[in-house]
Amino acid sequence: MTYVITEVCIKCKFMDCVEVCPVDCFYEGENMLVIHPDECIDCGVCEPECPVEAIKADNESGLEKWLRVNAEYAKIWPNITRHGEAPADAKEFQGVEGKFEKYFSPRPGRRP
Ligand code: SF4
Repeated sequence: MTYVITEVCIKCKFMDCVEVCPVDCFYEGENMLVIHPDECIDCGVCEPECPVEAIKADNESGLEKWLRVNAEYAKIWPNITRHGEAPADAKEFQGVEGKFEKYFSPRPGRRP
């Protein structure tokens, strides 16, 4: 099992999750974060930190696509361990449907 970040994170990217992770397994894309499934130790500490409930345990049904997205991009995006500033318009994207199709970006985040 692992925890995965879902579509809800796209364009919101509040990043409250990253500082609580004991194994620093978050990776940053241009407009969302992902969790490396081979590094996550399933502690669950990050899940309640997300203000928009974007983090789910992968044993919930319907998360196969998100497990693939997390696994694929955790390999190529930079690691993130410190909370950054959420996008200025993050609140406007809360609860928006279809964010993957409209806004997902494969580009990495800007952190080193
Ligand atoms: Fe990190 Fe624990 Fe969240 Fe996995 S469940 S990403 S180890 S804080």
